[in-house]
Amino acid sequence: MLNKVTKAFTLWNKFRFLKRSRLEIEALQSRKLRTLVAHAYATVPYWRDFFDKHHLKPADILSVKDMHKIPLTSKKDLVGLDRNQITSTHFDPKALTPIKTSGSTGEPFVFFADPGYLRIVSLDTLRSKIRHGLRPRNRMLRIGGDQTDLKRPANPFEQMFFHTALLSSFTAPEEILPVYERFKPHVVWSFISILYSFSLWLETRRIRLSWKPRFLLCSAEMVHDFMRRKVEDTFGAKIVDRYSTTELGVVADECQTHGGYHLYEDSIIAEIVEIGGLPHFVGTNLDNYATPFIRYNTRDVCQPWPEMTSVCGCGLTTNKIQTICGRDNDFLKSPDGQIIAPTRLIYLMRESYHVVRKFRFVQNSPETVRVTLTMKSKGAPVDFADLAENIRRVTGGLAADIHLADDIAPDPSGKMRIIHYSAGEPE
Ligand SMILES: [Zn+2]
Repeated sequence: MLNKVTKAFTLWNKFRFLKRSRLEIEALQSRKLRTLVAHAYATVPYWRDFFDKHHLKPADILSVKDMHKIPLTSKKDLVGLDRNQITSTHFDPKALTPIKTSGSTGEPFVFFADPGYLRIVSLDTLRSKIRHGLRPRNRMLRIGGDQTDLKRPANPFEQMFFHTALLSSFTAPEEILPVYERFKPHVVWSFISILYSFSLWLETRRIRLSWKPRFLLCSAEMVHDFMRRKVEDTFGAKIVDRYSTTELGVVADECQTHGGYHLYEDSIIAEIVEIGGLPHFVGTNLDNYATPFIRYNTRDVCQPWPEMTSVCGCGLTTNKIQTICGRDNDFLKSPDGQIIAPTRLIYLMRESYHVVRKFRFVQNSPETVRVTLTMKSKGAPVDFADLAENIRRVTGGLAADIHLADDIAPDPSGKMRIIHYSAGEPE
């Protein structure tokens, strides 16, 4: 009971935070940052060595204005280290939850979350859902992850807000449909690629859904416009895209009315840093004390949004970022090293090759790109030579190696990246 009251109070405070002044927001961030840095220096060997190596002391980092003094860390700095190096000695290891990053970027990486942090993540997630229209005792269908469980009770606190049904990432469309129609979810939470594939499947069979959810929550993948249009049209509901990363937790979600993504500034200090000619999202998570991530380069490419000087039209005061443009390995590279925006390939495919149902581009050498296609109907004509020539043109000279497939399987995590660079480490 006490637990429920504490959670409800924390959640209420989290809602109040969204309307604080810039000064109040930065004061809270600075206070949390000081505590985190002192803790990391005192109890996490990686951070102790890192600060010593860069001649920094916790006393040098007193506010968000001092952030720039701390050099960036990225996954490649942490991935090879022993777990003890990146984990705080303050906790009993048995009390910590291991978190694995998805394999889609190639390097498996395990770190730890402490119970307090996990509570904050679930409250941040709940705040986002309520803000976008989740109401007490609604039904939520989650399609993602590796479990199917149609009767899973949420934890007692969350049960006040919703009932959940879970379908794994690998559920086939013909199995999703009856669950959806029976459960009639108010909220569907999934990867955009799953909802998009499901929408295409319904379209081919001329099936219309009989139930409209209140909104669709998408996370962990880039929501391309053509996917958004198709999915919103199929479900008759708006997509709310949420930017979260495994290491940093929930980072931002879409503004309801005025564009951009509002940052979760009580949990994250966000920065956009130019690296290799592209603006990258760099984040500091203020709540995970088991494995602190301080000025962590996500390698997600992201445009800034002007700093909020007044209240946003939606009523929030927190800063925004523009849409996430993709991870840095969602950008192919021409043979002479130019970065190719994924939209160029997406437009080419959408505008000129209507017979293609799905496509994937994987660049695994500096000169060639492997292209996999699935067709809308068997035997539909596609002129490979013409397509290869167009790809060469929009990519500044990449040779396309084109293959047909019956389907394009998602990554092991269940996500589907349609454009992928794997010709060595991007700069
Ligand atoms: Zn807004």
